[in-house]
Amino acid sequence: MDNEQLLYDISQLNELFRDSTSIQNLLDKTVAMVASHTNSDVCSVYLYNNDNHELVLRATRGLNPDSVGRVKLKLGQGLTGLALKELRPICEKDAIHNPNFKFFPGIFEERYECFLAVPIVRGIWKIGVLVLQRQKGRYFNDSDITALEAVTSQLANIIENARFLMAMHEPHGEEENIQTALSEQFKFIKGKAASEGFAYGPATVANKKKSLAILMSREFDHTYTLEDFHKAITKTADQLEELQEQVGRKLSDAASLIFSAHLVILKDKYFVGGVVNLIESGVNPPLAILQVATQYMGSFATSGNSYMQEKTQDIEDLIVRLMSNLLNEAEELGKFRNRIIITGELLPSDLLILSSEEAGGIVLIGGTVTSHLSILARSLRIPMIVSDTYELLGLPDNTPILVDAETGHAYVDPSDEILERFESQQKARLTLDEQKRSIQPVTTTRDGTRVHLFANINLLADAKVACELHCEGVGLYRTEFPFMIRNNFPNEAEQFTIYRELVQLMKGRPITFRTLDMGGDKTLSYYHDIKEQNPALGLRSIRFSLQNKPVFAEQIRAMLRAGAGEDLRIMFPMISSIDEFCQAREVVFECLDKLDKQNKEHNHKPKLGIMVELPCVVDLIDDFTKEADFFSIGTNDFIQFMLGVDRTNENVADAYLSHHPSVLRALKKLVQSANQNGKEISICGDMAHQEQYLPFLLGIGVRTLSMNPGYLLKIQKALSEIDLDEAKATAEKMLDQSKISDLAQILNLNRSND
Ligand code: PEP
Ligand code: MG
Repeated sequence: MDNEQLLYDISQLNELFRDSTSIQNLLDKTVAMVASHTNSDVCSVYLYNNDNHELVLRATRGLNPDSVGRVKLKLGQGLTGLALKELRPICEKDAIHNPNFKFFPGIFEERYECFLAVPIVRGIWKIGVLVLQRQKGRYFNDSDITALEAVTSQLANIIENARFLMAMHEPHGEEENIQTALSEQFKFIKGKAASEGFAYGPATVANKKKSLAILMSREFDHTYTLEDFHKAITKTADQLEELQEQVGRKLSDAASLIFSAHLVILKDKYFVGGVVNLIESGVNPPLAILQVATQYMGSFATSGNSYMQEKTQDIEDLIVRLMSNLLNEAEELGKFRNRIIITGELLPSDLLILSSEEAGGIVLIGGTVTSHLSILARSLRIPMIVSDTYELLGLPDNTPILVDAETGHAYVDPSDEILERFESQQKARLTLDEQKRSIQPVTTTRDGTRVHLFANINLLADAKVACELHCEGVGLYRTEFPFMIRNNFPNEAEQFTIYRELVQLMKGRPITFRTLDMGGDKTLSYYHDIKEQNPALGLRSIRFSLQNKPVFAEQIRAMLRAGAGEDLRIMFPMISSIDEFCQAREVVFECLDKLDKQNKEHNHKPKLGIMVELPCVVDLIDDFTKEADFFSIGTNDFIQFMLGVDRTNENVADAYLSHHPSVLRALKKLVQSANQNGKEISICGDMAHQEQYLPFLLGIGVRTLSMNPGYLLKIQKALSEIDLDEAKATAEKMLDQSKISDLAQILNLNRSND
């Protein structure tokens, strides 16, 4: 690279712009000049907008010229955004495989693997990024970086002036136009997978607030009667009852009372009476409904009670339904069948409705996907991704969309080529019947070591599948699901019914009931009234149960009764000390005592265990083995708390590392202690179904894994290819490492698939 000539030429660029029309010319000349002097296939300039924190491609030599003005990156997004965010050059030999690489279809960037981005800054002001790209093998080196830094510092002044002119002269609305064009152009949506699978179908944007807002601003030419109103009430109630029944048929444990708030309002004499009074005083029924609904929603929304606030959504939902029936514009039940639902808000009850209506897939926009929402979606087998592409909420209904919830991507109006690719992948996926035919009743490694595969159960529907796939028992039954989708704590009798059904489905296999694991991101709208500053560290899990002993005891009694004559295991979540375990055990003893006295049939000797989710258990593990009957490691929370990384926060997903050396060494210590002290230990967090960790887990002595039934066959197959001695050697090698990067290499991970 001829650095001096390049710097000289750049300095001459100042001459080039005298008015706004030559600014593009200036940038075009810059990229042409730099590309040629640096022997690069691509040179691009991105400029940064401080107001919306966005980088926009403003000139390029080498990429598709149509992408100018259309490619946009947030600060920190993609390698280019990262260079500006971290104010450092980023040099990559194989950029397209870097997890930070942002793929834009149609600009042909993927042809150039060698990548160098240098931020353009002046003082504390971020101006943009200069990017060079070359084809495979033609790497950039340190002297390229130094040269480019000199160029960007000269460019900073020139571009800053040019940008000022651009801002002054660009016609208003240009940004808008670019935005619209962008939505049309960008058909590839990158998100995060929340529930695996593929789905392809027409889009439906579900937005209750928007539908209500449209109704509120609408004129009603036709005059309706009081009779029309009463008919609409009856029709709405019938529909809701039918929906309730539909959900109930599919999900007996989860369905109860989802629409109870809707039905209560429909029967409420103040609501109905209020509307009737207005109609009788001459108000057109649609306006009367909206007027009374507004009063209701106002008082719910300002009640300061989160349960009541959540109910405003029920009213919104109900009013839209009631109005559609009055106006005779009602869509029939089943309107979501095989459709891809795009929504900005999603409650567990919404998921149940979507599942019962057989929606094809879900794209949740901008929402945080609580771990339980995604666990529920998996149990319901609805592919779901979470994305922050808000433009999708403006997507016209019926636009075809393909959700690839294996990778977290979505394709709007996908080409035939993309569809064909997914169809063949879809064919390669085994159906449940095929899985049933392939799976073996007994799981062993290549050398014949026996491994026990248990199932994690969230809904009763999972249990049936798990048995058909030869699971050896339930390693984790998340009892909070029936609590989450109700309007109040289920009582002992309701819980007993659900637990007994599970016991019967499992036909004598061991069942591990986890006591209520509420709090953190798993909230109960009817309980979590007080907002906690740090819910992840707040009144949750066993702490909640111990502070609410009557609720806890009711649950324990239901478990003891349901587990009569069975291999019943009760497991306490988030245990932090032996004292806490003893307090929880005491509650079980009290329940046993009472059931004895009441002469009620129950299990007399349940095994009592703890879920290892907190790092403070590690050093006490030997002592714990003297108290608890068994252990199960919840790696999801264990990693979260060991590393201080929120498991649901996308922004820190890169720091959530199962292969952190401290995590691995802690796991080894836990497993070794339990094995030496003759206590059962299993893994029930996501690590149990991540194939790359199987050799390590086997190598440190794990012999029981519990997972979502959908993973059983895949894990059985992977285990059958592992040799125990080799696994031990791998585990030892991994335990010797102190650096995350070295472990990533051994595991052959690029960070995106961890
Ligand atoms: C875990 O923390 O690993 C676990 C299995 O529990 P949950 O995902 O329900 O928090
Ligand atoms: Mg957990």
